[in-house]
Amino acid sequence: MKDGGQLSHEEAYRVLVLNRVWQPVNIVGAKRALGLLFQRNAQVIDPNHGHYELLSAEEWVERSLDDPPQPDEASVRSIRMNLRLPQILLLQRFDRVPVQETKLNRRNVFERDQYRCQYCGEVFPESRLNLDHVIPRDRGGRTSWENLVTSCISCNSRKANRLPHQAGLRLRCQPVRPKHRPFLALLHRNGSRESWKPFLGKT
Ligand SMILES: [Zn+2]
Repeated sequence: MKDGGQLSHEEAYRVLVLNRVWQPVNIVGAKRALGLLFQRNAQVIDPNHGHYELLSAEEWVERSLDDPPQPDEASVRSIRMNLRLPQILLLQRFDRVPVQETKLNRRNVFERDQYRCQYCGEVFPESRLNLDHVIPRDRGGRTSWENLVTSCISCNSRKANRLPHQAGLRLRCQPVRPKHRPFLALLHRNGSRESWKPFLGKT
């Protein structure tokens, strides 16, 4: 995605990744899938024509140009075009999807904590959540996976610049750096697509 396209289904969209012997090895989001495709690390397996067709990044782009995706189809829109999102990828050079460190940012901390305030335990929309330094920065607390938690606005202002116990708050669990999520857990969490079924028997 050289021209920085907008993903219309970024949150929910999932792509099944197969290794070179067509065994499922991972499920990735749309952005990661397009990264693998455009870095020539994977090809698209297109199951839509009664058999499995293998397409390179260029061929996949061409197909979306010739036959633009319908409004109900998952796609990524850029200045030049509307690119259809693949459902299955075949790795070309690796047996596994290369591991990517989860970046430390607001969204990923919320994801780790499943949008649940780590003090009161309630789930909130992103707009009503804050990042909280468990040990405040001016007391030497670091900006790290181990010292950042999801907090609702009210717990956050109650805690202010204190340690949790000083504000009568308690962490629900000790914050940790997220682990690389095993494939089967991802599958369980995300459910499966019709087009994935022929491959999932092989896990
Ligand atoms: Zn709270």
